[in-house]
Amino acid sequence: MKGRKLLMIPGPIEFEPDVLAAMAQPTTSHTAQDFVDCFGHALEMLREVFLCPDGQPFVVAGSGTLAMDMAACNLVEPGDRALVVNTGYFSDRFADILTRYGAQVTHLRAPLGEAPSAEEVRHALAQADYRILAITHVDTSTAVAADVRGMAAAGREAGALVLVDGVCATAGEEMRQSEWGVDVYLTASQKAISVPPGLALLVASPRALERFRARKAPVPNYYADWSLWLPIMEAYEARKPAYFATPAVNLIYALEVSLGQILAEGMEARFRRHRLLSDMCKAAVEALGLRQVAKPGFRATTLTAPYYPEGVDATLLQHVARAGAILAGGLHPEIKARYFRIGHMGPTTPRDVVATVAALEEGLAAVGYRFEPGAGVAAAQGVLLDRAAG
Ligand code: PMP
Repeated sequence: MKGRKLLMIPGPIEFEPDVLAAMAQPTTSHTAQDFVDCFGHALEMLREVFLCPDGQPFVVAGSGTLAMDMAACNLVEPGDRALVVNTGYFSDRFADILTRYGAQVTHLRAPLGEAPSAEEVRHALAQADYRILAITHVDTSTAVAADVRGMAAAGREAGALVLVDGVCATAGEEMRQSEWGVDVYLTASQKAISVPPGLALLVASPRALERFRARKAPVPNYYADWSLWLPIMEAYEARKPAYFATPAVNLIYALEVSLGQILAEGMEARFRRHRLLSDMCKAAVEALGLRQVAKPGFRATTLTAPYYPEGVDATLLQHVARAGAILAGGLHPEIKARYFRIGHMGPTTPRDVVATVAALEEGLAAVGYRFEPGAGVAAAQGVLLDRAAG
């Protein structure tokens, strides 16, 4: 594997060899008992990873956008008011999807690089009878993390269902779904869940299922309709075969392996490790004199979004890739050409972050940026050694 480049984008990410090996197993029947057992076990573990013991998990073939679609089509009825806490590109997508199913959406925005506070959300919710509060846990376009805990409490007080897009957060950023009162936490396989792209995952609270069961309008989507999927999920958990639409068999094998690894690490240790990786990366970019899109107090732990230095553009990323690390360009339409993104989630190690920072330094030198060689690496390593010392 010499010469292989580290994939340090905010998804897809580098996957564990055992997860990839699970993908390579001979595909079996989706009703074979060993597959049914594997799927059932994965659903049980999902509850533990989401810290939602009383939740109902759904796993279907698709990407994160399907998980958003599934949350919206099952829980929105035409005319429902929805408050969207808008922190960037993916919050706009959430709003579009909610609107598609008939919601009347109001955006609550913050300046670029920030998120509204829980108090602002509480105030906004008091202005109308909101049925839905939609939050992007980590907006991948800005590396901004929202205060889901505080916002979810405000949503509950107002009687709104709290839907959280965790595509760039789940199993990396701290989240306690039951304790924080989140009604739907949704994600995709290819980020901190650490399975190749192709699975949409979500866990619904008992309150969300109640709201779903009480709906008057039929679900205006066929593939994502919970009435069709709920019996399938329940059957797999009861270790019984069932069929509505063919599951992504090999991805489910891989999911079982990855969720097992996540739980073996432990959620608290995992949240701590993601904070460490993030602190290392952010200390490094700061030491190199790069500003970040996300302001202090709003920074995600799953990725870092630095601005290019003055006079430097996306060609930097080609030099960094040549030096061994693949990074992502900008995504937020207002500043797309002015910044880049470094993902550090899932199985990423502190050594991967140090190697990535070293590659970034090589790239910065290649484009003529002046800095103290090794300053970024030293800052990252400093955070690591400080944390190890205690
Ligand atoms: N929400 C967020 C926060 C995301 O980062 C992404 C993907 N980058 C999506 C939604 C959409 O997920 P997918 O591309 O898997 O459909």
